[in-house]
Amino acid sequence: MEKGDSVIVVGAGVFGLSTALHLARRGYNVTVFDRQAYDESQYSYLQGADAASADINKIIRSAYGGQTEYQSLSTEAIAAWHEWNEELASGRTVPPGMTSKDRVFIANGNISMSTDEELPPWEQACIDGMEKAGHHNTQLATTDPRHCEVAASRGQSSYMDPFQQRRRGQNPVGVLDTTGGMAIADKACRLALHKAREASAKFIFGAQAGCLQSLKFKGNRVTGIETRDGKSHQAAMTILACGGWTPVLLPELDGLCEATAGSVILMKIPTNSPLWDRLGPQQFPTFTFNMRAGSQGGLYGFPRNEDGYFKVGYRGTKYTNPVRQSDGKERSTPATRWSVAERDGAQPVGERLTDFPLQACQVIKTFLDEYLPELCEENISIATTRICWYTDTFDNHFVIDRVPRKQGLMVATGGSGHAFKYLPNIGNWVVDVMENVNTDRKAIKAWRWRALGSGKPINNVMEGSQGERALGNIALSKESVVKQSAKAAL
Ligand SMILES: Cc1cc2nc3c(=O)[nH]c(=O)nc-3n(C[C@H](O)[C@H](O)[C@H](O)COP(=O)(O)OP(=O)(O)OC[C@H]3O[C@@H](n4cnc5c(N)ncnc54)[C@H](O)[C@@H]3O)c2cc1C
Repeated sequence: MEKGDSVIVVGAGVFGLSTALHLARRGYNVTVFDRQAYDESQYSYLQGADAASADINKIIRSAYGGQTEYQSLSTEAIAAWHEWNEELASGRTVPPGMTSKDRVFIANGNISMSTDEELPPWEQACIDGMEKAGHHNTQLATTDPRHCEVAASRGQSSYMDPFQQRRRGQNPVGVLDTTGGMAIADKACRLALHKAREASAKFIFGAQAGCLQSLKFKGNRVTGIETRDGKSHQAAMTILACGGWTPVLLPELDGLCEATAGSVILMKIPTNSPLWDRLGPQQFPTFTFNMRAGSQGGLYGFPRNEDGYFKVGYRGTKYTNPVRQSDGKERSTPATRWSVAERDGAQPVGERLTDFPLQACQVIKTFLDEYLPELCEENISIATTRICWYTDTFDNHFVIDRVPRKQGLMVATGGSGHAFKYLPNIGNWVVDVMENVNTDRKAIKAWRWRALGSGKPINNVMEGSQGERALGNIALSKESVVKQSAKAAL
């Protein structure tokens, strides 16, 4: 690749936006295609945007247990998140519709909690990993009196006990990652889009002109793409970054990557509620809860946002939507507004988009009943639900590599539920892979094209329509029923 060469990026989620920004900065002639009208929806799920990246908030943390490659990547990202906030505040870079008062990162910490009596090994590894890397006193254990004093001296005691368990005579068990917090996801995507445009990347949005129809080939070389409007676009390199839609677009990812569903509820806190301050980011951190406890755990949540939305997610079971493809194979396909509108003869299994997995609903409500009973006491019920599609790999590592046997084609995908935090920097690594720069780094090796082999997968992929996580095989609950009560009983 030579500077000035044309590069096509398909998909303007986190991977596509970040890649476009860094490609443009390094002097490539970049065009990004996305079938969604992001200039209209402004990456807001509530205004119709439909992608994992289009959300109100996402957790940012640097602690990664023993996975120091992601810890370093997060440290790099968090420095950039602070810079993006400063750029906004200074007025130097303000996207249309945003102001210098907006922030894209809020440093309210991320606490990893569990029902264990002692600090679990993963949380201890987070403390050890960060201490070893010189980030002293950034990981504060609720079980360590010295750490509690450090938190108190910084005014962060409420972050150490977000569910006010001590008041109820319980001991919270967890580690607060004080380097973390949350991205304001939609605004962060808008800022990245704006920065990429300023760096001269071009964006073609829309269901026809922005939608990849097919790859163009000369022999085994990909020479660009054809879009739905029938136009051809040439490029020296094409990079597919289509999130949960990538495995269907590129069947070579079979066995490596799969679209899976996370379940999310939003409650709306009225401004006059006593919970407005209590669940606001000044007092409430982002949290994960029993992340390694199988189907009864895997919860996470956020402070209420500026519109009052209080979001809790469940990923203890990630569901699939296997749909038979033209080659006869079943592949999980995001069942979203977009897929339903498009359908193309394929029938997503969920009857309606608003149907919500009953199991997810029960686990979330049981958790809220026990840990945030104030929501029920205040009569705050679920305002809306969402099924949001991950792109999981069998080992939770991303896939950033050239596609074997197809010259001129790369993928940047496999976010596996943790890539949003790298919006400011992951593209720099994608461009390094494209340019073959220092490709023996641990993270880049982990992201290579790979097959499962004899190891045990972290995520079982491609269980198909017989799998017990397939949406067709689980109980779904109507949104109206989910909304009825914040209580666990349904
Ligand atoms: C429920 C949930 C919670 C998460 N929480 C966190 C978190 O707290 N912290 C964190 O760091 N990460 C989190 N993640 C992960 C993070 O959101 C994802 O890793 C990241 O957003 C994935 O970005 P992406 O670019 O791969 O995909 P997406 O954001 O899905 O973007 C893919 C884009 O491709 C476009 N596209 C698809 N097909 C075509 C086509 N044929 N032509 C043109 N365009 C096309 C789509 O329109 C879309 O814009 C979470 C993910 C989910 C699902």
